[in-house]
Amino acid sequence: MKRETKCIQAGYTPGNGEPRMIPIIQSTTFKYDTSENMGKLFDLEESGYFYSRLQNPTCDYVAAKICALEGGSAAMLTASGQAASFFSVFNICGAGDHVIASSAIYGGTYNLFNVTMRRMGIDFTFIDPDCSDDELEAAFKPNTKALFGETIANPALKVLDIERFAKAAHAHGVPLIIDNTFATPINCRPIEWGADIVIHSTTKYMDGHDAAVGGCIVDSGKFDWFASADKFPGLTTPDDSYHGITYAEKFGLGGAYITKATAQLMRDLGSVQSPVNAYLLNLGLESLHVRMQRHCENAEKVAEFLENDDRVEWVNYPRLKGNRYYDLAQKYLPDGVCGVISFGVKGGRRAAEKFMSKLKVAMIATHVADAHTCVLHPASSTHRQMSDSELEAAGVSPDLIRLSVGIENVDDIIDDLKNAL
Ligand SMILES: *Cc1c(COP(=O)(O)O)cnc(C)c1O
Repeated sequence: MKRETKCIQAGYTPGNGEPRMIPIIQSTTFKYDTSENMGKLFDLEESGYFYSRLQNPTCDYVAAKICALEGGSAAMLTASGQAASFFSVFNICGAGDHVIASSAIYGGTYNLFNVTMRRMGIDFTFIDPDCSDDELEAAFKPNTKALFGETIANPALKVLDIERFAKAAHAHGVPLIIDNTFATPINCRPIEWGADIVIHSTTKYMDGHDAAVGGCIVDSGKFDWFASADKFPGLTTPDDSYHGITYAEKFGLGGAYITKATAQLMRDLGSVQSPVNAYLLNLGLESLHVRMQRHCENAEKVAEFLENDDRVEWVNYPRLKGNRYYDLAQKYLPDGVCGVISFGVKGGRRAAEKFMSKLKVAMIATHVADAHTCVLHPASSTHRQMSDSELEAAGVSPDLIRLSVGIENVDDIIDDLKNAL
C-alpha cells in the first residue's frame, strides 16, 4: 500500500460483519475462562489483553497504522509525546548511562532530559545538530546508549542530517532515536535513512484537530541489540520481573524493544493512551496525507509573502531558496517540510509581542501543527525556562515568532499577517 492508502486502511482490517471503523474498546480489563489462560498472558507466553494499562486493542490498531506508515516492525501508543520521548530513552538507559541529544529539540524534551532524567542519574550531552563529524564523534563516551534528534527541530526548523547521525550512532553500537513529529511519515520516514526508533507527539499533525494529546513509539526492528549486548543488558539478559525472559531472544529484533517498553515501562509507569483518544487520533490519521499537503502549500506561500515584506527582519523556512537547510530539506523532505515557519519582525521582541496581539485569524496558542493557524513567541512561553545561551543553542532568538500555518484559505492567513504588520 502507498502512504495515502495506509492512512486510511492500515492497522485494522474488519472481518465479516465487524465494524467498519476501529472500535473503541473502553474496557479496563478482559475476561478469561481459566486462571491458566490468563497466566500465560502474564508469562508473555501468549499474546492477548488483560489490563488496559499495558495494552488495549483500540490503541494497538492505531499504533499498527503508524507503524505501517513509518515502515517499522512494532509500535505502541503513549499518553503524550513527552511519555514517548521518555520511554524511548528510558527503555534502554538507566542511572550511570549517557545520551547524546541535539541541542535544537523541543523545549519540553530538553527539560525532560536536562532536568528530570538527569535526576534519575542519566547524563546528557547536547550537541549542535550542524556540528562537524569530529565534534559529533567527540561527544560519544563508553557509556553512551543512544543518539537523539528531531527531523525538523521545533521551533528552530533545523533539518537533521539523519543519515550522518545514523552512521555515527551505529559506529558506536547505539541506536538513533528520531522525533518525527513535525515531518510526519507523510513527508519523511527516518527509518529509510537509518534511524532505529521513531517517536511522535501525535498531539500535533497526526491528530491535527486540537482534540487529543498523545504519543507513539515505533521500532524499526533493525537494531541488533546482541551486537552491543553489553550496552543493553535490559534487552539481552533475563528480566527477573518477567520470569527470566530475555526480550531480544524471545521476541526477536523486531519485537524486543516495544515488548519490553510495554511489559516493563507501561506496567510500572502507566502512561497509557486512552482508547477514546486513540479513536480520535485515528480520525486524524485518515486525513493526514491530505492535510499535510495543504499545510505545506499554505506555509510555502506564507513564507514567500513574509520574505518579500520589508517589515519582516528574517524568515526561516527550509523550503525557501537560500535557507541554510534547503539542501537537507530537498533530500529528506522532498514532498514538503511542514506548516511551521519562524520569523522575526523589525523592532525585535517588543514589536513581536505587539504584532501578535493584532492577529485575528492566527490565534495565540502554545499549540502547533494542527488545522488552525496559530502563533507563539517561544522566548516568553514554551522556552522561558531556558537561559539566553541555551536559547541560542536551541536556535531560538528572543524575537523569534513561530507561526503554525493551518489549512484555512491561505489568502485569509496572509491578509491577517499584512494587517498586523
Ligand atoms: C509537542 C512536542 C512534543 C511533546 O509532545 P506532547 O504530546 O505535548 O507531550 C515532543 N516533540 C515535539 C517535536 C513536539 O512538537
